[in-house]
Amino acid sequence: MERKEIFCVIVGAGMCGVSLGRELIRTGTLKHDEFRILDRNPDYGGVWEANRYPGVACDIPSHAYVMRYMLNPNWTRSYAGGSEIQKYYAALADRASLRKSTDFLTLVDTATWNEKTLKWEILTEHKETRKKTLWIATILFNNGGNFHRPKYAMIPGRENFKGEQWHSSEWRTDQDLTGKNVAIIGTGPSAAQIGPKIQPIVKNLYMYQRTPGHVFPRGEVVIPAWKRFIFSWFYPILWLYHVSWAVSAARNKDMWLSGTDENKAMHKKAIAWLETQVTNPVLREKLRPKTEFGCKRPLFLNDWYPMFNQPNVELITEKPVRITEHGIISKAPQALDTEDLKGQPVGAYEVRSEKNIVEEQQTRDIDVLIWGTGFDMEDWGGRFSVNGLDNLNLSKQWGTYPEAYWAIAVHAYPNFFMTLGPNSGNYWANATTVIQLQIDYHVKMVNHIKEQNKTACYAIHPTAEAQEKHNALLKEKRGHPAFLSDNFELRSHTHA
Ligand SMILES: Cc1cc2nc3c(=O)[nH]c(=O)nc-3n(C[C@H](O)[C@H](O)[C@H](O)COP(=O)(O)OP(=O)(O)OC[C@H]3O[C@@H](n4cnc5c(N)ncnc54)[C@H](O)[C@@H]3O)c2cc1C
Repeated sequence: MERKEIFCVIVGAGMCGVSLGRELIRTGTLKHDEFRILDRNPDYGGVWEANRYPGVACDIPSHAYVMRYMLNPNWTRSYAGGSEIQKYYAALADRASLRKSTDFLTLVDTATWNEKTLKWEILTEHKETRKKTLWIATILFNNGGNFHRPKYAMIPGRENFKGEQWHSSEWRTDQDLTGKNVAIIGTGPSAAQIGPKIQPIVKNLYMYQRTPGHVFPRGEVVIPAWKRFIFSWFYPILWLYHVSWAVSAARNKDMWLSGTDENKAMHKKAIAWLETQVTNPVLREKLRPKTEFGCKRPLFLNDWYPMFNQPNVELITEKPVRITEHGIISKAPQALDTEDLKGQPVGAYEVRSEKNIVEEQQTRDIDVLIWGTGFDMEDWGGRFSVNGLDNLNLSKQWGTYPEAYWAIAVHAYPNFFMTLGPNSGNYWANATTVIQLQIDYHVKMVNHIKEQNKTACYAIHPTAEAQEKHNALLKEKRGHPAFLSDNFELRSHTHA
């Protein structure tokens, strides 16, 4: 196994990894040969490199979803498609010549803190050659993101299905869906972007819904060439747009909080949109959100509701209970018992099927099964195995309840930093603004550690007290976001 020494390792070449690399170079903090960005993907962009499904696009305006130092006058749509966003982050990396400091197709397996040498030992494997490398680094950044471990619904029989099946984030571009019977499990953001794009070509589209969410019009517009020309010549317009969006998002915080007037107004707005979009009253009832606004990530889509008016689309509110060789068996909500609902969120499968026409169980034959079931977000510490002081393991320590210091560092994990760590993300803050603030801090830390290392090996991590104090402050100040309200609690044993 090859052994390589470097000052700093950055795991992840998504928007966080790229932005950090760029800032380290721009500020002269590190040279290209002093850090290495490692990513298992073949190129920059993170989720935007990985997700290739039809309709993939951001759901906040593209002009907001950029770094403030590289605004993009050339977006072709107000909600840019995935490949355009990937190209933007690749261009950002290329401007800072980051390819000189990046290894792609490199899977980071474990990172272990060596208490004697005060260095991280990071084990990687090349995805194609299987070559293993041991990196020895003073600083380790975990910019591994959270949306890349596909999650599947626990439906027995998945392995027996004889047709094609794949997860939305691992889209099979070699497969043609024309004339096929297709099922999508899930109605979250990815599934809702895919459905309307494949509906015109498939024979039948079965959408399996667990809980209906809030939907709003997106106001998607193609940005004409003349506008793009103006944007490139009057850069301040772009800057104003970028900043004003971030400011208005922050000012709208109250609408995400449980029980506020603003929250109720958003619910009403979504219902009004539903009423105008879906003609069939039974269907409308199935799509009507039953929880507070903000419990589930809202959808901003113009074509989602109208899709259900098409004759080849069926919305299924029954619980899929078994996958057979050629189809899916589902059970009517009326027939679900306590066992069927164990571990399901409040509100799951509460939308009744039409009693008189639905049997207790139904089988639908399908050719293709698409898992639109999102990502494993619970094991925050498990992007790769991180082992700190006293053999502590981050995944075991955090379980499903990660705690950090200001979202960027963790007690007992020296010289270890994260971007978009626990509690960074919320609906009312623009992700790219948060990333830039955290990176400004990272650069200061790298400078500090580098300076201290000139005299002796040096490591730093927050004290347990500082971390506890920070988390107590967080709980006190965060208010009551709807996604933490009772509406969103997991059902444990009973069917409420
Ligand atoms: C389809 C989709 C749409 C989204 N739309 C929006 C949106 O509109 N607005 C918004 O704010 N957010 C959106 N998000 C959330 C999005 O993840 C963040 O906005 C942002 O991309 C996070 O950037 P990141 O660099 O932290 O993580 P990522 O983009 O996930 O990048 C992390 C990188 O780390 C690499 N990595 C992880 N673990 C390892 C390992 N063990 N070894 C090697 N490499 C590793 C991954 O391959 C990946 O390239 C969306 C997510 C998805 C999946």
